[in-house]
Amino acid sequence: MILTLDIEHDWGLETTKSFMFLSGIFNWLEDTKSSATLFVTGNVAEPLNEIGLPKRVEIASHSMSHPDLTKISENDIINEIQESKATLESILKTKVKGFRAPYFMAPPNLWEILFQSGYKYSSSLVAGYFPKRYHNKIKPFPFTRNGITEVPLQSFRLLHVPFGLSFMRIMWPFSKLITPKKPYIFYYHPTELLAEPPGPAEGKFIRILYGINRGQMARKILYQFLQKQGQAVSVSKYLSGLETQLTEIPINLPNKVAASKGPIKEKLKTEEKSGNSGQGVSK
Ligand SMILES: [Zn+2]
Repeated sequence: MILTLDIEHDWGLETTKSFMFLSGIFNWLEDTKSSATLFVTGNVAEPLNEIGLPKRVEIASHSMSHPDLTKISENDIINEIQESKATLESILKTKVKGFRAPYFMAPPNLWEILFQSGYKYSSSLVAGYFPKRYHNKIKPFPFTRNGITEVPLQSFRLLHVPFGLSFMRIMWPFSKLITPKKPYIFYYHPTELLAEPPGPAEGKFIRILYGINRGQMARKILYQFLQKQGQAVSVSKYLSGLETQLTEIPINLPNKVAASKGPIKEKLKTEEKSGNSGQGVSK
């Protein structure tokens, strides 16, 4: 299973207090001979560097300042993508190959920009559904798009929300019943391990929802799950071990549409040319 962590400011606050929990996961990686990918925002590269990173983690970008990329201009998207890569590489002294869009909100030109900016892979889509955000009809397995390998997140069974610690905690213990039989990728934020609920900059709904089962309970749920998996790998390690040829899934061709014939396909072709697209992300 691929293990990924999203490293950003503590929700609703400008702090990085949750970084104290990184030593726990670093120890687990060492004990189990595992690796993991950290998707880091450029604006927390300094405090992360102070902690010191083990060889077992791969650093990838989670943008510079965590904006919703579908709501900013193309120039700003390019800046978020390129500046974060340069910042992380210079401060953390590593090569950045991967990117994850904040909130899993991917603009249609994301992959093209990533390719032009020297990235190799993205993990910006969820093979699932999130109310008012996205409804992606893709399989939970890597595919290629515009020269970039997309490694989408998986969803829970029955309830197709992103498979990660957030919903695992919120729906605990029911979430145990709908956990994928063979988890292929998992994600969490160290900030979820803090006992305090998200700060005042988050809306009331988010503060209440994401305030469920935090702190010690969140840590218990997380490690119980990881222990059960036994071992984990970073995205790069997983991709290097993949022997199957990945299929190209262009934007505008979610499974349902790709299966249809005739005029719709023709229409999509023209739309693709004119650059009018949207990959099932509700805005
Ligand atoms: Zn994030």
